[in-house]
Amino acid sequence: MSAIMDIINATRGECKCGVVHETTIRDIRIGSGLVHQVGQILKDNHFPKQILLVADRNTLQAAEGILESLKDFSVEQHIYDNLRVADMEHVYELEEKIRGREAAIVSVGTGSVNDPCRLAAAKQDKMLCIFASAPSMDGFASYSSPLVEKGFKASYPAKSPEVIIGDTKILANAPNALKSAGFGDMVSKYVALIDWQVSTLITGEYYCEKVAGLTRQAIDELMEMADKVTENDEETAGKIFEALLKTGIGMSYTQNSRPASGAEHIISHVIECKELIDGIIPNYHGDDVGVCTLETLKYYNELANRPQIETQYENVDWDEIYRFYGPMAEDVRKLNEPENIIDLVDPQKLKESWGEIVKIIRSVPSYEQCKAAMEKAGCKITVADIGKDEAFFRDCMYYSPFMRRRMTLLRMKHMIV
Ligand SMILES: [Zn+2]
Ligand SMILES: [Zn+2]
Repeated sequence: MSAIMDIINATRGECKCGVVHETTIRDIRIGSGLVHQVGQILKDNHFPKQILLVADRNTLQAAEGILESLKDFSVEQHIYDNLRVADMEHVYELEEKIRGREAAIVSVGTGSVNDPCRLAAAKQDKMLCIFASAPSMDGFASYSSPLVEKGFKASYPAKSPEVIIGDTKILANAPNALKSAGFGDMVSKYVALIDWQVSTLITGEYYCEKVAGLTRQAIDELMEMADKVTENDEETAGKIFEALLKTGIGMSYTQNSRPASGAEHIISHVIECKELIDGIIPNYHGDDVGVCTLETLKYYNELANRPQIETQYENVDWDEIYRFYGPMAEDVRKLNEPENIIDLVDPQKLKESWGEIVKIIRSVPSYEQCKAAMEKAGCKITVADIGKDEAFFRDCMYYSPFMRRRMTLLRMKHMIV
């Protein structure tokens, strides 16, 4: 049993937080040369004989040897040219191929290849194995699929894979740009944890100490390895992969993305939606998320320097907000009307809790510390690094909190005087 499976089993089940933490993940294998054992691992986990293998040309090439290892199976291949933006059509295509058959999906890749597989397997009730091609984001163990439908990107509940395989040789060999992006996605957990804790404090939102602890441990471990991220080192690659899995497992346990995504992911999501409208292919998820994390942390650190605050009721120009969202305005309106999440925040309580909030902000590494670690890990650091116009970025940051019904400290900005 792998170390990570021990962690899963130790945190699984009934919890003090009142929730029974469950995940469909049965087996996680991380090791050198596992690409040659995929067939055996599937047999160990009672996968059916018919396999739909989904990959793109790059990920299939990275996983050289996987087809040979599946020689006892009847394999149908579904290979994309270069899949960067997954949409609902991809899900329908896959569903067609497995509907009514006793087949399972083996997805070879990272986010954009795995996401349609996760949803197609969930809808058709099939087993799923994810073979990771790069440690580039934290969604491997996740149960939900971010997908584009009719030009809009949203997260759909899907399923976690039964089996996850990470061949450390392949992970270590992945392009540095992907490894650095994975690191950027992980640093965001510090902001996610601040936002989750602040919301719990102010609005009484559900919180699980155990899951938050799992996330915190994963990112702390990774920060220690910042200078090794871009090395072609199997041991480091395996550890990074483990850390990425832990936060995904945390999300399965809470059945939402709270433990792993806060204000920074919402900003990055707005950027991506805006760019999709303009037909721009988004950056690697972790690149944008990393820079959004630093910008959010910078703001939170500034707030933490204030010993006391005055508060007021939120008073924003909704017409201006909906104008910014353009074709998305109706969807955004539904998230804010008739109920608005900001109504859960009592200005007096916010004021009185300020000391606690400052403590929460200071409980994670500062902007400077995260920036230094990200520099070591070869991450993108500035708004210019991710190729965005400064004014566009500021707008996305300013308007982002209104496009999700999720309480963050950034959402409370207009109540803080
Ligand atoms: Zn719990
Ligand atoms: Zn992410």
